[in-house]
Amino acid sequence: MALTPLTCHACGGHAAVVRAAQTTCRYCGAAVPIPPEYLAAAQQLEQHEALRRAVEPKWRRLAKPTSSTLDWVAVAASFCLPPLASAVVAWFADPTPTPLVGVTLVTIPAIIPGALLSVWTFGSRATGLNLAAQLVAGPPERPGGDPSCRGCGAPLPASPGALAATCLYCRTDSLLTGSAARDASWQVSSRSRTLREALSVWRIRVLLLVMGSAGTAGLLLLLAGVLLVTYALSG
Ligand SMILES: [Zn+2]
Ligand SMILES: [Zn+2]
Repeated sequence: MALTPLTCHACGGHAAVVRAAQTTCRYCGAAVPIPPEYLAAAQQLEQHEALRRAVEPKWRRLAKPTSSTLDWVAVAASFCLPPLASAVVAWFADPTPTPLVGVTLVTIPAIIPGALLSVWTFGSRATGLNLAAQLVAGPPERPGGDPSCRGCGAPLPASPGALAATCLYCRTDSLLTGSAARDASWQVSSRSRTLREALSVWRIRVLLLVMGSAGTAGLLLLLAGVLLVTYALSG
């Protein structure tokens, strides 16, 4: 039979299960004995926790925010490169290219680096924030309590500095970092039960982002090529 969240006999609040004979209620301080079946479940949880811990460093690496310098470089490249490239070509090219040739061979290609960098920096950050918001733990049942599982609402024993916790009852991983843990209105449901699954989703989204950016760059170059061929044929 599935276990129901352990409650304190004194105040009725949820009590987090620890691997010990008893725990202390976060709300009233009463000693709550841990029944054997909860202890057994806590032992079984260890392998799920080990799987989660194995992917946590990868998650931390992905979740590391891109530097704001990169944002400025992307914006500067988007606005400055096209006119700069056009000016350099107009200055050095002899004879000066016609406006159409200038746009197709200089301006459009010069847009690409800034545009790609912008898509990458802003897109990858938005993807990460969106996914992290979906995985974050729920608020405590009562003020001062442990954060709750995003899957079933059971309390998660929070260890200081931990990135995530695995629920004893439904084996869902919840992120313990971020302000969303204190605000239920932030919560967005996720289909990924574990951090490992969420990491795969993240990788696929980043891959799609890269493919989309490369596709956009390809389309821009194709457009430039078509304009140029049209011009050459008409001339
Ligand atoms: Zn209590
Ligand atoms: Zn749960």
